[in-house]
Amino acid sequence: MTARLNEEIVVPRGILTVYAGPMFAGKSAHLLVDHPDQEGSLCLAPAFDTRSGASIHSRVGLRRPARSISCWPSDFARFRHILLDEGHFMIAPHYTGDVVADIAKSLEAGIDISVAGLDTDFMQHDFDVMARLRVLADRYVPLTARCHVCEAPARWTAKKRQTGHVLETGDDDLYEARCDAHWAPPD
Ligand SMILES: [Zn+2]
Repeated sequence: MTARLNEEIVVPRGILTVYAGPMFAGKSAHLLVDHPDQEGSLCLAPAFDTRSGASIHSRVGLRRPARSISCWPSDFARFRHILLDEGHFMIAPHYTGDVVADIAKSLEAGIDISVAGLDTDFMQHDFDVMARLRVLADRYVPLTARCHVCEAPARWTAKKRQTGHVLETGDDDLYEARCDAHWAPPD
């Protein structure tokens, strides 16, 4: 009889990087610049965010094709690195399941994950998904924008007018970055 080595295959956990901050802080740009397009990487964006079509794009003109998702991709294990933009949007009714649990599962499978998203909404309340990802992150990168009023570092998003929606896509027509002194709730 030959002895068989009972070798356990240990897969190193993937690395989770999180870029968080207000709007206009360059989150998507950091996501794309820090992680050049490579074989085995997959970009994900929310399905309902029609501003970008099927892509991750930044306001400085960077763009990379993405898969629009409303749940975690069933073929995630095929990839080495998954980039997720607008992570704060990945909640019901736009996302089926728990995106944080889906990301944790993918990290356990050895896949690197990088996420960009808003840490707080326009009322300065945490986005739950991003707060939970912060705890999980190997590398957490807080980003600031420039205050629309005084150009100081801004960590808040302000909404110019109340529309009744917490999750609403918009650009500088609807939102501005504001510093601690100049943030205010919408009129
Ligand atoms: Zn200011």
